[in-house]
Amino acid sequence: MRTETADVKFDPRRFVHTPFGWYALTREPSDLGPFPTKPQASSALADHIKLHMGLNSRSAEDRYSGFTVHDPDTCTKNNCGRCAEALAFSGFQAIA
Ligand SMILES: [Zn+2]
Repeated sequence: MRTETADVKFDPRRFVHTPFGWYALTREPSDLGPFPTKPQASSALADHIKLHMGLNSRSAEDRYSGFTVHDPDTCTKNNCGRCAEALAFSGFQAIA
């Protein structure tokens, strides 16, 4: 039986810590964040998943296939945690 608790355990790979804060990665065109803390990102992801439940045709068991190289130049997301991470590593100083 499913319960509605906030203590949902997400795949840790869904969270990216950048100098701008924590991002929660989603399957939608926009990731969530940045948030000051990981629990806030986790809470936002829980809300996001509730909101999109039934709207996404892919299985909930759809997992990231592991390590991927993310290219911000070809990324189509409009708020992307992986881009934030990549830009931070390349010395980018500010997003806004
Ligand atoms: Zn991206």
